[in-house]
Amino acid sequence: MNPFRPKTIFVESAASRYALTESLLRNFKDVPHLETPHPKELIACIRKKDDPVGAGKEHLLLLTHKGKFLKRCPATKNYICCGYRILHLGLGCTLDCSYCILQSYLNNPLLTLFVNFNDALRETKATLERSPQRFFRVGTGEFMDSLALDPYTKLSTALVPFFAKTKNSILELKTKTTNIQNLKDLKHNGRTFVSWSLNSHAIQAGEERGAAGIKARIEAARKCVGWGYPVGFHFDPIILHKNYELEYSRTIDRIFERIPPSRIAWISMGCFRFMPGLKPVIRNRFPETKIPYGEFIRGLDGKMRYFKPLRIEAYKTLYGGIRKHSDRVTVYLCMESDEVWEKSFGWSPKNTRGLSRLLDQAASRAVASC
Ligand code: SF4
Repeated sequence: MNPFRPKTIFVESAASRYALTESLLRNFKDVPHLETPHPKELIACIRKKDDPVGAGKEHLLLLTHKGKFLKRCPATKNYICCGYRILHLGLGCTLDCSYCILQSYLNNPLLTLFVNFNDALRETKATLERSPQRFFRVGTGEFMDSLALDPYTKLSTALVPFFAKTKNSILELKTKTTNIQNLKDLKHNGRTFVSWSLNSHAIQAGEERGAAGIKARIEAARKCVGWGYPVGFHFDPIILHKNYELEYSRTIDRIFERIPPSRIAWISMGCFRFMPGLKPVIRNRFPETKIPYGEFIRGLDGKMRYFKPLRIEAYKTLYGGIRKHSDRVTVYLCMESDEVWEKSFGWSPKNTRGLSRLLDQAASRAVASC
């Protein structure tokens, strides 16, 4: 993984007085920075480039976020959702996976950080305290990689102790990097789960530009286990490719060679799915990739998915591979129907409420075992 160095840091006028802005400008003191009174005009200008996504990754935009920080996961109708909350701290990613749905999902292609981070913590605290009977699983890795910029922002050093003090939540930091240095000596109380998106070696090598290797990710997880953190793994997106059964089983075997099952909070799986608008973006940006040319059908949520029997076969294979090592680790599917759950695993949480309960219990167990 190469260190990140933006070509320019654009600072919205209102963002200039925040501590995070000051520390980022100090960290990148040789990078030109420009006060940007009209960020929307800047975003519109980047959107007109031939490759807005690639251009957006070269710069950093510092903004104040005016909306809500804590949001429900953008679940799609007709599929069972995990009931996750997103802590919205920024947009975009320094890595460049060919399949990344953010390439067509985000209106703003610029790598963006919200510098009024303390407002995010204040809002989260108020939300957690308003509903003490509820359990909140919160993640920062939906619209960005949770740790890609952490060496520069050090946000984890505030987030982890913050969640350590809560009684009814956990934080999940999801990444494809090995940027775990800042986590080492933090007081976490088992309330931060560090998790890695994993794939087969072939997909990692061919499609996940800038990400750490699979072995390196698992070694980083092992270190986090050594520091007392629960860990998680996400096989998402599963991509059907030559010998995928064998390729994914190698990754699964590697997890269990290096990580005790008792320290794994959960493993999720989701087959590659995308809105039709992503295909031309992938074709332009990654002409060598074959992943959008499989046989897809349009799902009930408008997304393109592999045919149901192919998805079921893939889930059965990976589930069998996991169960060979552990019959206790919590395994779940991301955005699939009751029928697919039943046919893949032989059981189903039935609906979003059932899956949320299952994951709340898994989270509570992981916290209690720390
Ligand atoms: S790590 Fe995630 S957010 Fe970053 S480019 Fe890859 S898929 Fe997109």
